[in-house]
Amino acid sequence: QPITTDMATLTREVKKFATDKKLEIETLKIREEYRREFLGNVSHELKTPLFTVQGYLSTLLDGAMNDKAIRKKYLERAEKGVERLIYIVQDLDMISKLEIGELNLEIAEFDIVKLVQNVFDLLEMKASKKDILLMFDMKYNQPIIVVGDQEKIQQVVMNLVVNSIKYGELQGSTEVSIEELTKDKVIIRITDNGEGIIKKNIPRLFERFYRVDKSGARTEGGSGLGLSIVKHIIEAHNEKIYVDSTFGVGSEFSFTLQKVRNKIKNSEQQSK
Ligand code: ADP
Repeated sequence: QPITTDMATLTREVKKFATDKKLEIETLKIREEYRREFLGNVSHELKTPLFTVQGYLSTLLDGAMNDKAIRKKYLERAEKGVERLIYIVQDLDMISKLEIGELNLEIAEFDIVKLVQNVFDLLEMKASKKDILLMFDMKYNQPIIVVGDQEKIQQVVMNLVVNSIKYGELQGSTEVSIEELTKDKVIIRITDNGEGIIKKNIPRLFERFYRVDKSGARTEGGSGLGLSIVKHIIEAHNEKIYVDSTFGVGSEFSFTLQKVRNKIKNSEQQSK
C-alpha cells in the first residue's frame, strides 16, 4: 500500500478523534451549564417558602404567640410553607431522575377509566373548596385497558387535574374525557373553563420552573415543575402531549396512550 493512503487514513482518524473530543467537551459544557442553572433555580425556589416559615416562627417567638387566634393562624401558615417545601423537594427529586433518564418505567396493562375515577376521588375535597365540579365524560361505559406505567400516568392525570382546579374559576368545572383515536391509541383530555393562558406563554409551559404569574401574589402555590414532569413522563412512554388554551376562556391539556386491543373480540375472531 502506498504510504500516502496511510497518511490520509491517519489524518482522517486524527481529525475524527479531534471532532469527537470537541463534541464530548461541548456536551460536558452544556451539562455543566444545565447543572449550574438547575441549582440556581432550586435554591431560588426553596428560599421563598423557607423565609415565609422563618418569618411566621420569628413573629410568634417575638410575642405573637400570646394571642391565641394569631398563634393558630401563623402556625397554620408555617405548616403550609413546610408542606409546600415537601412538594417542591418531591418534584425536584422526580424531575432530576427523569432528566438524567434514571427513572425506569414499569410497563403494564391497566384500566385508565379506573385511574381517572381514582384521581377524582383523591381530588374531590380540593375541587369542592373552590366549588369546582369534576366531570367524567365516558363514551363507553366499560374499562379501557391501556399500556404504561400506571403510577406515573396517575401522576400525569393528577398534575393536570390539580392544575385545572388551581387555575380554574370558582364554581367552574373540569372535564376529563377518554376517546379512542385509532384502534390502538386513546387520547385523554383534561378541560377546564378557568383563567386560560396567553398565547405567547404557551410554548414555555413545559419548561421546568416556568410559571406564567411569578408575582407570588397569587394564592396558588407551586414549583413550576408539574407540567415539566408531565411532559417527561409522556415522552418517556413515546406518547404525545398537547395544549390548547384561550386566555379568559379555559385550557385543554391532552395526551395519548397505547390501548390494548379488545382481546375478547380477537379471540372470538380467531375461534371463527
Ligand atoms: P405550577 O402549577 O406549580 O406553577 P406547572 O408546571 O404545573 O407549575 O404549570 C406551569 C404554569 O402553567 C402555571 O404556573 C400556570 O401559570 C400555567 N398553567 C398550568 N395549567 C394551567 C391551567 N389549567 N390553566 C391555566 N394556566 C395553567
